[in-house]
Amino acid sequence: MAEANLRDVDAEISNLIDEENRREHETMRLIASENYASRAVMEATGSCLTNKYSEGYAHKRYYEGQAVIDQVEELAIARLKKLFGATAAIGGEDDIHVNVQPYSGSPANLAVYLAFCQPGDVIMGLGLPAGGHLTHGHSVSITGKYFKSVPYGVRREDHRIDMDEVRKLALENRPKVIWAGTTAYPRTLDFPAFRAIADEVGAILAADIAHIAGLVAAGEHPSPFGIADVVTSTTHKTFRGPRGGMIFSKKQHAAAIDKAVFPGLQGGPHNHTTAGIAVAAKEALQPAYKTYAKNVVENAKELAQALVEKGFAVTTGGTDNHLMLIDVTSKGIGGKPAAQALDRAGIVANYNAVPFDPRKPFDPSGIRIGTPAVTSRGMGKAEMRTLAAWIDRVVASPTDEALIAKVAGEVKELCQKFPAPGLRV
Ligand SMILES: *Cc1c(COP(=O)(O)O)cnc(C)c1O
Repeated sequence: MAEANLRDVDAEISNLIDEENRREHETMRLIASENYASRAVMEATGSCLTNKYSEGYAHKRYYEGQAVIDQVEELAIARLKKLFGATAAIGGEDDIHVNVQPYSGSPANLAVYLAFCQPGDVIMGLGLPAGGHLTHGHSVSITGKYFKSVPYGVRREDHRIDMDEVRKLALENRPKVIWAGTTAYPRTLDFPAFRAIADEVGAILAADIAHIAGLVAAGEHPSPFGIADVVTSTTHKTFRGPRGGMIFSKKQHAAAIDKAVFPGLQGGPHNHTTAGIAVAAKEALQPAYKTYAKNVVENAKELAQALVEKGFAVTTGGTDNHLMLIDVTSKGIGGKPAAQALDRAGIVANYNAVPFDPRKPFDPSGIRIGTPAVTSRGMGKAEMRTLAAWIDRVVASPTDEALIAKVAGEVKELCQKFPAPGLRV
């Protein structure tokens, strides 16, 4: 039994994994937060490292038998320092502390609160309806319940973050932490401007680069390193590692962050994930990764432009990063039925609120589209044009199942030509 493989032990789960492998292979992944981890990353995460308990940090553990685990964690940290240290405006590798133990992006952000805040403290972040993340103080999140959240927004005129409003709210409310990070925002963030405001009010500046970590690493988005006090991220979005989280901080905050992650919030780290992060960091240090990140942004710009040409209302008129928000109501359809029709056509995105959305969050006006995954498959500008044409056809006739089936067939055909990294074909 212990030697038997998955197929023999559990055919149901094995079949479901095969089914998901087929779905991922044959459909167009446009969910902006998703990507394809490489086979190497998945091998590391599917390894015996999942068996080991290692509460604590390298050379300061609460269990014996850490000879290998310490090396895995130290390798992950060294590679991440090298990768992101190169992007630091000041400080460099020597002033970066890295914690790779957060179980995911949300726990990484909770560690920042635990390190710097008391319950009831004021915190500021981009509001969820404007493209911010739940963990930056949204009312349904623990971060909005345990802290006094003062969200900032985007300007009505151009849907860009209003730094004047950020400053005004910060001066009025004196937050402990200011978040600079987004989950559905198509433009770059002005980290130096956030820094100046944080300094003016004595706040900790926390940059959350969950979505853009890969772009930052490759120099395709301005870096918050050397500017923010702390930088949090997921490891599975543009970064293209396993599902996980990481926290970078200036050395002066190292002890507070480490204590917050363990024993403050978590028990044993997921060592198999740490190994996967180390592999992803090694991949991100290769020249090919720079090209990848550059292509992600170029593809997003091309797709946004092609959609604008087809009359779609692309928020802010385009994108600087890997994603775009499209208000589809001008095409006579809501975001949810549009996303559902696209899904039936093999084009997988998500419905999303647009800034100042008059509709309900569960039935909003927009869809969010990102290029990290299709770029990992090697698709380029020509395929982005094809995608825009498919999206246009489906959104124009969301109940024409014959047309949708025809598009699904074409999507499948194109996907066969661009096998996704990590999948079995
Ligand atoms: C995705 C995301 C997170 C949370 O990551 P999970 O791994 O889903 O917990 C946090 N912050 C931002 C900005 C994100 O986009």
